[in-house]
Amino acid sequence: MKNIIFLEPVFKEMIWGGNRLITDFGYDIPSDHTGECWAVSAHTNGDCVVRDGDYKGIKLSNLWNEHKELFGDVEGETFPLLIKIIDAKADLSIQVHPDDEYAKKNENGALGKTECWYILDCDSDAKIVVGHNAKDKDELKEMIANHKWNELIRVLPIKKGDFFQIEPGTVHAIKGGTVILETQQNSDITYRLYDYDRLSDGKPRELHIDKSIDVINCPHVDVDTDRKTINMGQGSVEELVNCKYYSVKKLNIIGEQSFTQTEPFTILSVIDGVGNIDGIQINKGDHFILPAGFGDYVLSGNMQLITSHI
Ligand code: ZN
Repeated sequence: MKNIIFLEPVFKEMIWGGNRLITDFGYDIPSDHTGECWAVSAHTNGDCVVRDGDYKGIKLSNLWNEHKELFGDVEGETFPLLIKIIDAKADLSIQVHPDDEYAKKNENGALGKTECWYILDCDSDAKIVVGHNAKDKDELKEMIANHKWNELIRVLPIKKGDFFQIEPGTVHAIKGGTVILETQQNSDITYRLYDYDRLSDGKPRELHIDKSIDVINCPHVDVDTDRKTINMGQGSVEELVNCKYYSVKKLNIIGEQSFTQTEPFTILSVIDGVGNIDGIQINKGDHFILPAGFGDYVLSGNMQLITSHI
């Protein structure tokens, strides 16, 4: 029998978090300010455990280290991707990530971070921060030094189903009233540029202005992800992004549809509805990995999924 690796998520309480991880997804969250569900993660700060089957109870990091054959024997010290669902009740701080080269040099050999966001749901007037308005580094430094945050930071309206690719060096922030599925490189290196002058326990949170200035791309250039939808008999596949680190797609299943897993591994997250994979029931909020050599499989039901592979 072929193994489907279902994972138990890890939850993170955040000052900006809410309760939609239980109201929308039914997860057993620790409090009503839970900000993140680390759904597929082998990161030391939140290492998911296999839910059932042959590998029940084993951490994803251990599976990666001891069963490389499940992941197509790809090279790498750590499982390369991290999938999160983020419930932003309030605004997150404005941040930027380094690329691999900068992180390796300045963060003890860590990886940089490229990430992307699929908007699962948001308030009707919700907004997001992607990019900035400085024409070059000198103007960036001047605007930061003089606290011209409203002029500097580029705020865009969003709606359910929008998708954003956030390259290293991109100023970005999720704003309140937004639930997102994030696919990212397995890294936690973040430079905080601005935190709306908020206080946490009476003190402002630490900023990383110099490193932010180092890594911010000037001028900002939007990534054109050129979404393409391929209609199938009983559903559709939409390509959201193909980059150096991952390919992300959205599947819409209405009925029964066959697929073939030929990648080193493929991650699937059910973001809406209910259905089956090869006859096994899957629900909104389930996340699982189809290992190397999985081959043909059938998805049936009425559901939407986000998939990713390296
Ligand atoms: Zn980020």
